[in-house]
Parts: sequence; structure tokens; C-alpha cells
Amino acid sequence: LALRLKATAAEVIKKLMANGVFATVNDTIDFDTASLIAMEFHAKVEKEVVVTIEERIIDDSEDDEANLVPRAPVVVVMGHVDHGKTSLLDAIRHAHVTDTEAGGITQHIGAYRVKIGDRDITFLDTPGHEAFTTMRARGAQVTDIAVLVVAADDGIMPQTVEAIHHAKAANVSIIVAINKMDKPGANPDHVLQQLTEYELVPEEWGGDTPCIRVSAKKKEGIDDLLEMITLVADLKELKANPDRAAKGTVVEARLDKGRGPIATVLVQNGTLHTGDIIVAGTAVGRVRAMTDENGKRIQSAGPSVPVEITGLDDVPAGGDIMNAVSDERLARELVEQRRNEQKEAMFNSQTKVTLDNLFDQMQQGEMKELQIIVKADVQGSVEAVRQSLEKLSNDEVRVKVIHGGVGAINESDVMLANASNAIIVGFNVRPDPVAEDNAKRSGVDMRLYRIIYDCIEEMESAMKGMLAPKF
Ligand code: GDP
Repeated sequence: LALRLKATAAEVIKKLMANGVFATVNDTIDFDTASLIAMEFHAKVEKEVVVTIEERIIDDSEDDEANLVPRAPVVVVMGHVDHGKTSLLDAIRHAHVTDTEAGGITQHIGAYRVKIGDRDITFLDTPGHEAFTTMRARGAQVTDIAVLVVAADDGIMPQTVEAIHHAKAANVSIIVAINKMDKPGANPDHVLQQLTEYELVPEEWGGDTPCIRVSAKKKEGIDDLLEMITLVADLKELKANPDRAAKGTVVEARLDKGRGPIATVLVQNGTLHTGDIIVAGTAVGRVRAMTDENGKRIQSAGPSVPVEITGLDDVPAGGDIMNAVSDERLARELVEQRRNEQKEAMFNSQTKVTLDNLFDQMQQGEMKELQIIVKADVQGSVEAVRQSLEKLSNDEVRVKVIHGGVGAINESDVMLANASNAIIVGFNVRPDPVAEDNAKRSGVDMRLYRIIYDCIEEMESAMKGMLAPKF
């Protein structure tokens, strides 16, 4: 500062002292102090605005209400294994593919659209909550509506419960498809009854959860389900601005021997054109060819449209955010920067909440809600722990159990914790090896206890910043 003021360090320090700031040449002074001192030397200090590469090439300004037009809903199908997710997606697809003149060969690109009247619905073609939650963990908010498939002859099962919690954690609307209605043992009323235990009260019982009876096998009730999806979508007033640079999410990606990296991208805002320069995670390139789910070449894709693209220099990961950008050289610089950040992040994944940093995060006002996943050997313990933990809520932080279940801590629990920044506690259960490995890699805090009291006590101490350090 002295140098720029054409003064000596001693003169600057003298002025600082006169203003009550006792600094030495080795100290740093803030902008306001520097401005004050500069004024005394009849100079003016200006703040340098640092613009990141992202800000220079990615247009992420808020869209004007006037530019927004309705967009199709994006739907994911979730539920317990064998309850008919794949069958339902197939039934929907065969009844209602958008474009039947394209040679009839539908391709699996990870998502597809169906037409219902003059409306589109976009389905993610990977059933289950794994893909969904992996995407969410990467910050991608892709889906608007979850169709929860429950087999009418089997009722709510453990993965159904997981799916409900995943959907709720992501704030997406739930529509229940009670499947296998053709089976002799079908008991839809039992399913409705069970749903109420998870705060999903069926519409027909005065609640707000639509429940549609279907048979994926006999292709019955499919139209009712699709109609319900458009109704729910209408209520959500989903909108996007087609007249801006495209922004979307990578749904899946692979390397093709001949064509290089191929990615399916779901455009969420703006319109993607062939020739656009794009950045997806740490991959960069120009959109060379773009095809839709029917294998048809297209030149542009608007909001809620899934497309398969070639032209990237690397295979992005599912869930990576994709942006069309204005400058190829800067785009490459940005990708380089992200690659370096990724390397660094591998060494220090310390942004996740843990019992050890909980208090600090609360102090900094960053934690308003502490989310917890409880796994135990018996249902009774799950409930007991849930109640005791939630009672720890105070003015600063609310304690909320977002998922509880019986059995070992599994991969799905870790993914949910990772996506929701939650802590996992286990009682008389252990993580399976995959879960343990994933938790380590993603920095998810997992605590195992034998006695409920120990858990409550430790949690309470952590919230007070008095947790004994572990050695
Ligand atoms: P997913 O694991 O949830 O994807 O379930 P699938 O779609 O693979 O279906 C599991 C099994 O249930 C398969 O044998 C299907 O043929 C059968 N299934 C699916 N939907 C129906 C249905 O509506 N009625 C009957 N009877 N069987 C069905």
C-alpha cells in the first residue's frame, strides 16, 4: 500500500496508529482501513472485482418472468425391487413414444419423452433411487415428480421406504402407482393404509397423495397415471426460458470406440444447438451430433428434452452439470481449473457435517437442521432413537431423522447421507463393505453404538461443542 501511495512504510504505519490501528509491516489491513489511510494521502482505493471464468462464460443470470414458458415435467420411477418399475417404464414407452415415424427402433439413452395429448412428459429411464440420488449428490436437481411403484400383492417393502425418503429429501412430488392390480392377491387398500404410516395420505382418503391403480403387465391404468402426472405438473407450474444458453445435467455417459465420448444430457433451461461449445463437469467440446431417443438427428433441444450428444473430449459423469458457454479457450481453462480442484478435493473432503465439526458449523450459522439417518437391528430401537434425537432440537438447530430402517447400513443410506449432508448412526448394526468404502470416500460421518444412551449423550455434547476428541 505504501508503495502505491508513494509513501514509506513508516509513514503509513504512523497514519494507521493515528487512526487507532496498531499494525506492523507484516500485518494485513482490510479494505475499509486501506481506503481511510489512502484518503489521508489524497489517494483513492478501488475494490477490484474478481470475475471467475465461470461468470465470464456461463450465463447464469436469473431468467425474467416474461421469458419463461411452460416445460415438460421430468419424472423418475422408484420402488422396491420386482414391484414392476422396469415393466411400467416399458409399458409407458410402448404406448406413447413421441415419434413413431423414426424407423420404430427406440434406443435406450437414459431418458425418453411420451406425448399425452399435446403435452410431453420426460421419463428418466433408469429406475430406482440410486441414479437419482447420485445425481442429487452432485448438486443436480433433475426430477420434478417421482412415481412410487408399489406392488398391490406385496405392499410397502424396505426399498419402498427408502424411495419415499429419497423423494422427500429431494422435495419432489410423489405419485403412487399401485401395480400388479391384475394379480389375484392384489390388495390396494392395504397399500393405501400402509402409505399413511409414511405421511402419504391418499387423495381418495382426503390427503394429497395421488394413488393410481395400474397393471404394467396388462397395460391397464397407464393413461390414468400419465394424466395424473400432467395434473401434478400443472400445479407445479414448471417453467424455463428456451431463449438462453443451454444448461442441463448429464444423465449417463459412455465411451464409444468409433464416436468417442457419448453423453445423454437432459436440457433443463435454454436451448442446446449443434455446434455449441459445452462444458460438462471436467469434459469440454463442441456438440458435433445430437440425436433424440428415437435415434433421430436433431439440430436443437429445448427445456426438458433429453438428447444424446457427441463431441466432448472426455466422458463426463452422470449428474455432472452441463453448460453451453461463449468462449472455447476459456472453457478449456475452466475445465483445467476444475480438474485441479477435483484433485485437491480428493485430499480434503471436509465440507461434510460430522459430529466433530457440527458445533463449528452451527456457530457459523451454516447448520439450521441436523439431518440423521438411523439404522438399527430392531424397529423398536429405530423409533426410540428417532424420538430421543429429535427431542435434542433447540433454538439453533433442528434435529431431524430423514430415514430410519432395520438392517445393516447400506450403499443407499450412504448415498442419501451424502446427498443430504446427513450423519448416519447405527445401533447393533454395521455398514456393509461397499457402504463403508463409500462413506470413507465421500466423507460421510458414520457412528456406531451399542447403547442408545451413548448416542444421545454424544450427540448432545457435539451440539454443545463439548465432544471429547477421538484419538
Ligand atoms: P423392477 O425390479 O421393479 O424393475 O420390476 P420388473 O419390472 O422387473 O418386474 C418384476 C416382475 O414382476 C417381472 O416378472 C414382471 O413381469 C412382473 N410384473 C411387473 N408388473 C406386473 C403387473 O402389473 N402384473 C403382474 N402380474 N406382474 C407384473
